[in-house]
Amino acid sequence: MTYDTVRETDPAVADALEGERARQNDTLSMIASENHVSEAVMEAQSSELTNKYAEGYPGERYYGGCEYADEIEELAIERAEELWGADHVNVQPHSGSQANMGVYLAVLDPGDKILSLDLTHGGHLSHGHPANFAGQVYEVEQYEVDEETGYIDYEGLADHAEEFEPDIIVSGYSAYPREVDFERIQETADAVDAYHLADIAHITGLVAAGVHESPVGVADFVTGSTHKTIRAGRGGIIMCDEAYADDVDSAVFPGSQGGPLMHNVAGKAVGFGEALEPEFEAYAEQTVANAKALGDRLQEHGLDLVSDGTDNHLVLADLRPSHPDTTGKEVEEALEAAGLVLNANTVPGETRSAFNPSGIRAGTPALTTRGFDEDACREVADLIYDVVDAPDDDELIAEISARVDELTDEYTLYE
Ligand SMILES: *Cc1c(COP(=O)(O)O)cnc(C)c1O
Repeated sequence: MTYDTVRETDPAVADALEGERARQNDTLSMIASENHVSEAVMEAQSSELTNKYAEGYPGERYYGGCEYADEIEELAIERAEELWGADHVNVQPHSGSQANMGVYLAVLDPGDKILSLDLTHGGHLSHGHPANFAGQVYEVEQYEVDEETGYIDYEGLADHAEEFEPDIIVSGYSAYPREVDFERIQETADAVDAYHLADIAHITGLVAAGVHESPVGVADFVTGSTHKTIRAGRGGIIMCDEAYADDVDSAVFPGSQGGPLMHNVAGKAVGFGEALEPEFEAYAEQTVANAKALGDRLQEHGLDLVSDGTDNHLVLADLRPSHPDTTGKEVEEALEAAGLVLNANTVPGETRSAFNPSGIRAGTPALTTRGFDEDACREVADLIYDVVDAPDDDELIAEISARVDELTDEYTLYE
């Protein structure tokens, strides 16, 4: 893809688009929620469908001229049903947060109760944080991970559920390195007669490839984002039993959205098609193997990992035991100067703040898309550790930056 046409009419935007392409090519994204989609997904996302209004659902639209929109949405739905084995799929949510909103609107009334994981323990804003609409409209209480082990405190969750009597329990997380026991949470939800929403935003791709236990067919509702491990471009998705299909569909449109972003639905269709190919399973397996290699090497250097390791695509390091005077933000900034992009993150039992937390979160989905294997990830762990150990050493940062340049040249991305 070129930006030649934009350049003719709008050089300022063309400069920034080319800048972003160069930034992605020339740095290593280790932000656990990010990935690099294929050029086919990008082409579909930049199609003429951005012009089309298709309010409604395939075969029942409020506008004419929807025959191709219908074809594309049906393809996206069929492929999603096959990927995740879902009974009913809605591919219209504009984002993962919108997907969660759709489920809440489908089954909750204002003032109903949500029980979800605390944000500083790995939860997500859309699970009922006071700054999010869900925290303002519903009554929210939160469960936690066991601060000793870093694992979800399933017993604590069951006790909390019995006491609070929530209408819905939310599982699925943003910064949780371990496999989630969805069946156990379903048992807790059943015991208190609550719905269970499993938000697999981060692990959609791992679940589709069978490298993480699936909540589909277990939890009442499953939501996801489509731009993280599944690599299908920006957006959201809802899966549920046929019994909830009408409620979910009308909560998405007209409940909370207008016309679907059909160009993004086209991106989802293409990305889901790619994920049905056998190579995708190998990709997901490699992503997990890479995270393990990364985490093991960080531990060998003496860094403390929350939960002592990882089962999925991310590691969460608590800097306090090994580097009590170094904050996650300092490390994030020093690493970015060296071309390694990840994010500072709160850790369970956080003693600093959300803006300047004590941990760093590092994921392997984007590196694995570039072709990184375990050896390459171990080297990246060495580079990260060097920076954690000396975030103010400008000479070191320059050396690491030169090595990152070599790596990004070796593992190429977009032409
Ligand atoms: C990323 C994420 C979402 C969705 O985020 P959007 O930015 O709205 O797409 C929802 N839930 C969890 C747990 C996430 O990690």
